[in-house]
Amino acid sequence: MADSSVDSLLVTDLSNVFYLTGFTGSAASVVVTQGGLYLLVDPRYTMQARAECASSSVIEYSGVPTSAAIADLLNDLNPKRLGFEADQMSVSVYRAIRSASKSSISFRTTRGLVERLRRVKYPGEIAIIQKACEIADDTFSALLEEISIGMTEKEVALLVDTTLRRLGADKESFDTIAASGPRAASPHASPTDSVLEPGAMLKLDFGARYRRYNSDITRTVCLGAPDKKQQQIYEIVLEAQIKAIEAIAPGKPGWEIDATARDHIASEGYGDNFGHGLGHALGILVHDGPALSQTSDVVLESGMVVTVEPGIYIEGWGGVRIEDDVLVTDSGPKILTSATKELLSIG
Ligand code: ZN
Ligand code: ZN
Repeated sequence: MADSSVDSLLVTDLSNVFYLTGFTGSAASVVVTQGGLYLLVDPRYTMQARAECASSSVIEYSGVPTSAAIADLLNDLNPKRLGFEADQMSVSVYRAIRSASKSSISFRTTRGLVERLRRVKYPGEIAIIQKACEIADDTFSALLEEISIGMTEKEVALLVDTTLRRLGADKESFDTIAASGPRAASPHASPTDSVLEPGAMLKLDFGARYRRYNSDITRTVCLGAPDKKQQQIYEIVLEAQIKAIEAIAPGKPGWEIDATARDHIASEGYGDNFGHGLGHALGILVHDGPALSQTSDVVLESGMVVTVEPGIYIEGWGGVRIEDDVLVTDSGPKILTSATKELLSIG
């Protein structure tokens, strides 16, 4: 806050509210001052906030719009220079708060102050993410026994989701991707009624949300025995992924890790078939900020958790992606997801 020349910060992004206070409900705002945290909730959440947020002053409001309640709190706290999250607040909410607040309060735009803190995880956060990864790993193992040729992609996705929850996830991290055959050429295909055919590949991208943190894993398997091309493409992607993971170290910029995988894929002749970035930060959000891409100048730090997910996508043929979650440490990359990466033949 001092670096941004503000003495107080209004936080309206719910992921940031959770990070600062521990509040897990779906509506709240926080004002951070030099003296403390003030959590503003409506009566639906008062008991929950008091139970979850022992280090915050919980303030209940009712009968007025949130913007009026925020302005009242600001008028009480009377900051000189108030930062607000410019990427999170709508113009109309900003105007409503501004017009109801004392004119002596100077409103300053800030961007990514809390997100910056969220990049490096505490040991307690890492332990939760590790557990979310273990649930995803266990889910993949269980799926291998249950997925069979003739199922539809939607049936597979439902199986993924119920297995995640059965094995301890609070919910899915995001809408599960199950794409088979030529449909897997689209990196983020949503599941359809299309049926798993023998000889096709199946790409599964899913994750467990556990105590508000996420895991995110992709595995690509063969329905039946892989042919030569499937094997060859799979090996290129796997090699690119392993090389990129090995390159991860504190002090390195995100683009360099991306280039490690991208250069390998290009050297094998598939440079035009890997269109997306190599990976993203992972945490309270699945896409918890930038991390590894051609344009990323994020410098890796010990305690960051990133995904590494190169892929090769060929229109009319299909696609292969392999994704793991990796903790950056001073003693090298620690892979948090450990589901097998051998090219499996199932069904
Ligand atoms: Zn994923
Ligand atoms: Zn991902």
